[in-house]
Amino acid sequence: MAALPSSKRGTVLVADDDPVMRLLMLEMLAQVGLDAIEAEDGERALACFAHIAPDLVLLDVDMPHLDGFAVCRAIRAREQEHGNGAAVPVIMVTGSDDLAAVTHAYEAGATDFVSKPINWPILGHRVLYVLRASDAIARLRIADAHNRAVLAAIPDTFFRLSRDGYYLDYEQGHDPAAVFTQRECAGRHVRDVLPHPIADRLLEQLHGVLATQTIRSVDYELQRDETVHHFEARLVGTGAGEVLGLVRDISERKRTEEQIRRLAYCDSLTGIPNRQAFLETLERELARSSQHGRKFAILFMDLDSFKRINDTLGHNVGDLLLKVVSERLHDTIRPGDVVAHDAVLDNVARQPPSGNLARLGGDEFTILIPDLDRVEDALNVAHRVKDAMRRPFHLDGHEIFVTASIGISLYPEDGEDCTSLLKYADTAMYHAKNCGKNNAKLYSSALTTQIMSHVKLEVGLRRALQNNELYLQYQPQIDVRANRIVGVEALVRWRHPEHGIIPPNDFIPLAEETGLIVPIGEWVLRTACSQARAWHRECRHGVRVAVNLSARQFKDENLAQTVLSVLNDTGLDPRMLELELTEGTLMDDALATLATLEQLRAIGVYLSIDDFGTGYSSMNYLKRFDVRALKIDKSFISGLPQDSENAAITRAIIAMAHGLKMAVVAEGVETDEQLALLEQYGCDVAQGYLLGRPTAEGAIAEMLMALTEA
Ligand code: C2E
Ligand code: MG
Ligand code: MG
Repeated sequence: MAALPSSKRGTVLVADDDPVMRLLMLEMLAQVGLDAIEAEDGERALACFAHIAPDLVLLDVDMPHLDGFAVCRAIRAREQEHGNGAAVPVIMVTGSDDLAAVTHAYEAGATDFVSKPINWPILGHRVLYVLRASDAIARLRIADAHNRAVLAAIPDTFFRLSRDGYYLDYEQGHDPAAVFTQRECAGRHVRDVLPHPIADRLLEQLHGVLATQTIRSVDYELQRDETVHHFEARLVGTGAGEVLGLVRDISERKRTEEQIRRLAYCDSLTGIPNRQAFLETLERELARSSQHGRKFAILFMDLDSFKRINDTLGHNVGDLLLKVVSERLHDTIRPGDVVAHDAVLDNVARQPPSGNLARLGGDEFTILIPDLDRVEDALNVAHRVKDAMRRPFHLDGHEIFVTASIGISLYPEDGEDCTSLLKYADTAMYHAKNCGKNNAKLYSSALTTQIMSHVKLEVGLRRALQNNELYLQYQPQIDVRANRIVGVEALVRWRHPEHGIIPPNDFIPLAEETGLIVPIGEWVLRTACSQARAWHRECRHGVRVAVNLSARQFKDENLAQTVLSVLNDTGLDPRMLELELTEGTLMDDALATLATLEQLRAIGVYLSIDDFGTGYSSMNYLKRFDVRALKIDKSFISGLPQDSENAAITRAIIAMAHGLKMAVVAEGVETDEQLALLEQYGCDVAQGYLLGRPTAEGAIAEMLMALTEA
């Protein structure tokens, strides 16, 4: 037997009992560049085959002992046994026109045949052709095995769809939840397997794939094992008028995407939308509103004393407060104010959370009010929000009082783009704060100018004290029953060199904000006390002077010291000085308040609550603080006597104050009817335009002189 040949084109095993025939075959094979190995009978042919694994076998049918058919069968059996699926091409050489032999040869597993007499040049080409074909088949087989391995590694389900939507086959992937079974699908139409809306989308994409030969995909959801699974089917054209589909369960990916989206769009502390979500909602709303000619409003809310809560009670309480604030906001704004109401609360919301209510950061919240009919509607929401914030918060054992300042901008009146609208709402919010907090203000373009002039105002206010531009007016307070003056309230004014007289409401908030209120307040106190002392001396008739104290002054740790030294310097009896505080000032920080009030009480000054009824205060506290009088806010008085509700409130305040041994002063009394009613209710003191406008000290002196003369 020949040694193992090393031909590039291949090695052919030639099995023939006729030596001449073998010689001719070898010659022919050499001619076409192939190596050959000879075997003179069937047994040897099989041994050779096993030993050298030829690329092709040329096999004579007629051989003694083991004929060609038997050899061919043995070769195929052997290949089967070795199980690699490879099939070496076998060409059988038959007698001429022996049709039975040809049939027999194919049955035995032959690849091809040639019949004698042999046309040698043709045989050479034939051998080469069969070799090439066999090579191609081998390569296809490898590619096929490769593809199968790849497919086996992919968890997807595979199917083929005919152009009219029938499953040609269906191979279930590893993902058990993901798919139907082979039995449920093969041979059936997609509309008989999948819900119709999904099937129709799949069919539409199927036609798209066939028409364009692009890859298309369809996302859909199916309920499986009591949970909703998310699937993605990708459709690929096979080029044979049918489409290959791959289905994958992408539920996990969708969940992760959703989580990422929530992280990107949700404020982690409160769970409501964040700035980004709000901006995107705003963009959408702007597009929608401009398309339909609708209006919307942005509310920008900021808590007034959040920093203080954070500083005094700690960040935990601060965080808690923000959470409860966001809940209150959520409850306060009508469901209609928030489009995707549920998405805000639902932790597994599939849509990005709607940004209609959002926390921009810190203690800043925004609310988008779409489809606004009237500006008043935005103001109403703002007032509801403000009221919701004023209810005391009970957090971690603390009772906390906060107020909110709200700015409002309107589309399209104030601006046509999101950035400007948000900025304007912010500006309006600052304006609200400057107007004494706990306020809601609409943006107006005049505001920007106003805020610019605010800066100028501040510069002016710093000079006002030195330049003697501040002065006091005094408003008489009349004893309702005795009808005589018992006190005056000192009210500050600013005579601005350019703008004329500026009322306190226009500069006190600025003075508060800048801290200028402390020196200004001290000046007011000193001036009022020395004036009261002077009246007493000149008119020989004492009158109590009431001075307004703002929160900032009240928090000044030198307050008691200042009051004491002013009283000493002016020589005024402490009982003749009344300090007016607001409920907000008192409730701001009850503990610190108590200490300051204790000091003031020790000095012996008279304490009253100004604008009573507009804030929240606990009666219990008022009693403990040794408050001597309540001044009912003029907003309650102005509607009297017609406004029955305010009448009832007024009457109740008076009764309650008397129960606690406090006196009652009614502010803003403008008509005789009001005065009569107040007298009927038992009100002690009245103050208002009816009884005397704020006036210069000379006019008060005259009133006091008249008393002395009487
Ligand atoms: P307030 O303490 O409640 O003072 C009463 C306000 O009501 C005064 O306004 C007074 O002019 C006004 N008023 C009096 N009677 C009537 C009336 O019959 N009808 C109406 N519509 N209004 C009446 P004013 O002087 O503009 O003061 C406004 C606020 O500015 C004061 O409210 C007070 O909170 C603050 N303020 C005034 N002076 C000072 C001050 O020296 N220091 C501080 N911290 N605040 C001051
Ligand atoms: Mg007052
Ligand atoms: Mg008042």
